[in-house]
Amino acid sequence: MGDEEPGAQRPVGPRGSPEHAMTRLELTCERCHRPASPVAWQCPRCQGPLTLASWPAFALHLSDDDHTLWRYGPLLRVPRNVSLGEGFTPLVPCTVPPYGHFLAKLEFLAPTGSYKDRGTAVLVNHLVAHGVTEVVEDSSGNAGASLAAYAAAAGIEATIFVPAHASPAKKGQVAVFGARLVEVPGPRAAAAEACRRAAQQAVYASHAWSPLFLLGQMTVAWELWEQMGGTLPDAVVCPLGQGGLLLGLWRGSLALREGGFASRLPRLYGVQAAACDPIVRAWEAGADAPLPVREGETVAEGVRIAAPVRGREVLAALRATAGGALRVEEHAIVDAQRALARRGLFVEATSATAVAALPAVRRLVGPSAQIVVPLTGSGLKQGHWGDS
Ligand SMILES: [Zn+2]
Repeated sequence: MGDEEPGAQRPVGPRGSPEHAMTRLELTCERCHRPASPVAWQCPRCQGPLTLASWPAFALHLSDDDHTLWRYGPLLRVPRNVSLGEGFTPLVPCTVPPYGHFLAKLEFLAPTGSYKDRGTAVLVNHLVAHGVTEVVEDSSGNAGASLAAYAAAAGIEATIFVPAHASPAKKGQVAVFGARLVEVPGPRAAAAEACRRAAQQAVYASHAWSPLFLLGQMTVAWELWEQMGGTLPDAVVCPLGQGGLLLGLWRGSLALREGGFASRLPRLYGVQAAACDPIVRAWEAGADAPLPVREGETVAEGVRIAAPVRGREVLAALRATAGGALRVEEHAIVDAQRALARRGLFVEATSATAVAALPAVRRLVGPSAQIVVPLTGSGLKQGHWGDS
């Protein structure tokens, strides 16, 4: 065996052992295609985002008695050492006037109240398998709370950088799990910058950068396929910040098609607040990369991302699925959140962006199309509940 490539993966088990087989996920740079360390957050050479050397195709190797996302464990190829019961959220038909009928995937019922637990669970188990004992992350709240919970369960230390303007309920949730909470004044991007400096000393468990996070998010597409009797919906509409949910849906759908379980992909629609809409602007301009925007204030704090790390990939996914990107105004987000609550679905404002865009999506996909909306985060996280 020659000199080991710097950053090359070191398997934790002896070659050929089951442990080795479960941890052989290899990371490579999306831009220069060089291999990277399994605990790296970006390419050390070109600073590009990392990807998996191979993404799974769907197969029916399911554990029928496991009603968590670890049902797909053989496809994920990450050993489960820590679980809080993530995955297998309900899919319920609902009608919300005046937004019409859709299937709601209740992602806010995840262990920490947001869809992020899928990606975090897979990422943390991957890092634990590689001996990581300390992680840092930046977040507007949900990803930080999720990482804090899984770090607590795994017995590793977490430091979470949040913008000072994040909701007190989310900051409290980060702290209650025992993570170190660092509040950073200024825009959301300032918290990311502070975290990247800290990442020189600890492992950056980034929901925006890590392909392991996307791997976990693929499971939402697989669950939809199972819950819909072996089919995928015509369209899925979701909030769009970094794009982790949308990219997970895309990769998960591709895996189903590659495995021969679906003939077409759902049309994917990403929704941004008009106050911070870099992907929508790029979509409208026909650009391949997000356009620069000012990070404006919005009630939808989870999508307040001016420069999404994987923006190019998000735009490619929208094009490949004949979907699109849409913006919604603040009053429309608040109206949709209130309408959902009056139907018994209490979600945070970020989640309501997708529902606010439903009338526009329906005009694009037709009145009879089957639309799924993942309701991404609990309203209890917001801490202030408007005038209702
Ligand atoms: Zn590179």
